Amino acid sequence: MAECFYKNGLNFQCQRCSHCCKDEPGFVYLSKTDLQNLLECYNLSQEEFIEKYCRFVPFYDGSEVLCLQEKENYECILWENGCTAYKGRPIQCSTYPFWSFILRNKETWDKEAVECPGINKGNIVSFEDIQKSKELYENNFPLRKTEL
Ligand code: SF4
Repeated sequence: MAECFYKNGLNFQCQRCSHCCKDEPGFVYLSKTDLQNLLECYNLSQEEFIEKYCRFVPFYDGSEVLCLQEKENYECILWENGCTAYKGRPIQCSTYPFWSFILRNKETWDKEAVECPGINKGNIVSFEDIQKSKELYENNFPLRKTEL
């Protein structure tokens, strides 16, 4: 088996450019845990939060899943000069860039660096911490419409 390319960790330090929160269309899927954290953050009921900030989008398995809305300019709906939900932000956001498909190999990691100026900068994030984020990301399933 090939050696894991990040066995000695990876350099990453967010540069706070906010590119991953705006600029391009995207999907921030919400799991049950994410929704719970956001409800506490905004002190809204589930119905209110979903009505104000969410949409349902098709998922690869054919279901419709819960996702944050984005503004017309592609900013995340929760972004106002920074993330207004930072402490309760979704797992998809807090684990970036340690996502399975970005960590597939050195090429996929370096390719992501074109999008994210924090990649390959700053302090080393340990193998263990990378694995923790990757596992959190992999196990964070978006809520299906039928589960609400
Ligand atoms: S794109 Fe990278 S550096 Fe910019 S805010 Fe997102 S994580 Fe931070």
